Amino acid sequence: MRYLSTRGRSPQAGFADILLEGLAPDGGLYLPAAYPSLEPAQLRRMQSMSYADLAFEVLQPFVEPMPADVLRSLLRATYTAQAFGSDDIIRLQRLDDRITLLGVSQGPTLAFKDMAMQLLGRLFEHALAADGAELNILGATSGDTGSAAEYAMRGRRGIRVFMLSPFGRMSPFQTAQMYSLDEPNIHNIAVQDVFDTCQDMVKAVSADLEFKRRWKIGTINSINWARVAAQVVYYFAGYLRSVRDIGQPLDVAVPSGNFGNILAAHVARSMGLPLRRLVLATNENDVLDEFLRTGVYRPRAAEQTHHTSSPSMDISKASNFERYVFDMLGRDASRTRALFEQELSQRGFFDLSGDPGFERMREGMVSGSSDHATRVQTIRQVWEASGVIIDPHTADGVAVARRKLEPGVPMLVVETALPAKFEATIREAIGRDPERPQSARDLETRAQHFVVMQPDVQALKTYIAEHCGSA
Ligand SMILES: *Cc1c(COP(=O)(O)O)cnc(C)c1O
Repeated sequence: MRYLSTRGRSPQAGFADILLEGLAPDGGLYLPAAYPSLEPAQLRRMQSMSYADLAFEVLQPFVEPMPADVLRSLLRATYTAQAFGSDDIIRLQRLDDRITLLGVSQGPTLAFKDMAMQLLGRLFEHALAADGAELNILGATSGDTGSAAEYAMRGRRGIRVFMLSPFGRMSPFQTAQMYSLDEPNIHNIAVQDVFDTCQDMVKAVSADLEFKRRWKIGTINSINWARVAAQVVYYFAGYLRSVRDIGQPLDVAVPSGNFGNILAAHVARSMGLPLRRLVLATNENDVLDEFLRTGVYRPRAAEQTHHTSSPSMDISKASNFERYVFDMLGRDASRTRALFEQELSQRGFFDLSGDPGFERMREGMVSGSSDHATRVQTIRQVWEASGVIIDPHTADGVAVARRKLEPGVPMLVVETALPAKFEATIREAIGRDPERPQSARDLETRAQHFVVMQPDVQALKTYIAEHCGSA
């Protein structure tokens, strides 16, 4: 598979070239030159496959020329009952006769990001081993992404992780999940400031190209194509395990932030999976809902971002959105470039209302937003009606999904995290704690491993250099 940039000014590249990359050199995002298509007969065969083997069918066209046996063994090593709690890997849970949860949060950090990150850990290790190379992953986290990355990269040869987090500002559960890791290749750096400062420090270090090259600094953010591709798989698995006959219509609702998860649903549909409508759910940070209602995309500044009780969706600039716009504008790279490079930087927004591309988007994607009161009420209603406890992000998804139900079409709602990660909101909603998976029972009592750092870029560089001696 060849990959091209949404802005049309980068040479095409192969999967191995883009695996460890972020943005394309022209500032765009990589997408496959064409989506592979899976025929109904093949989908039918996949209905009885294990998750790993189903993943092979979906991912093989994206990663070739990687040898088939290598991919298959990486997938079988990744998607195990040990890592994801059961042989099924995903979990379907009926809430009522119309809505079913697509559970993709059974991995080590109890959120859906594990589904892709666990595979990335193995893909990275494999790619680095081929040329005896090393990679130092530098990142900033306010919670979920950092821990998913650390659990995926722990113990991996050739890889170190330097993860910045805002000291004392994550939930006790999230803090314990990250800091309790005791691995020589994982470095938790607790910065005495807020998350935005952590992110600025990462950007400052990455902007020093000489330092970046010398210490082989890389990132793993949500624009990484391999992450999106790995997420495409669970839409196939969710659909194929939900329907009796291929072709049956099914809608899917996705709690969204950076647009990575719902983009994967769009890719799955573009590959021939008969998903009907995609339902995009936001919280109070409703930039994407505003776009789908009005055609105006207006990202907001960090200080206009609300801090909500579904914190992993507190995003005001959706980093994967450009890929979807590119596809829906008929893959017109010069228009995409004009929108994201010129209009956004000069005017702060773009307006696609009245554009045929926007009408196409609205045929296949609808949206809605939720707020704290709605989340809490939804958690309570679902608990009372079905005995299932859902997390606040999933509650945003269920709340919006209910408004968008149509007769005769069942709905899958992606469960993006387990409630155990967000105990305070669950207590507020139903007056009791959610159950914790066995692996997290004594989390807060474990020894924690981290260094505290002032918000000082030089201190960060020194720390990295000191801990990158050839391993
Ligand atoms: C990351 C995350 C989201 C948002 O997913 P995107 O791919 O950024 O749209 C939603 N819920 C949870 C729990 C998350 O961790």
